[in-house]
Amino acid sequence: MPDPLPSRCRVCGGEVGERHDDTWFCARCGWRLGDAPDADIPPPRIDVVYYLRYRDRVKIGTSASPRRRLAAIMHDELLAFEPGDRRLERERHQQFADLREGGEWFTLTGLLATHIDGLRTRIGEPWAAYDRWLGEAFRRLSS
Ligand SMILES: [Zn+2]
Repeated sequence: MPDPLPSRCRVCGGEVGERHDDTWFCARCGWRLGDAPDADIPPPRIDVVYYLRYRDRVKIGTSASPRRRLAAIMHDELLAFEPGDRRLERERHQQFADLREGGEWFTLTGLLATHIDGLRTRIGEPWAAYDRWLGEAFRRLSS
């Protein structure tokens, strides 16, 4: 079980983690507490396809800065993230074309609902997953 970290993670801002011997590790991104990516390293680009619910509809879109993007779209709930860019977004738009209501909005039902449930099971809470991907990408850049 994760415990509260003695201080916030410098990579993702996470507040819970696990202690191994004398070292704390962030439960969200996996970085060692106190460590931070080299300031010379530009933040990695993480492209996600997002599933954003408004009433009984869902918008399937993509962004490399989802926090800013999602703040600009009226919605009730972020249902899921999936790692991917424009190409995956186009694939999903085609896959669920029968449910398309217009633009990037689809009716939340049937195979689309099943797909989103699957993502939530496999990938978990979207922002926790995003921080995990960010931590992994920073680690790849730093090694
Ligand atoms: Zn972290």
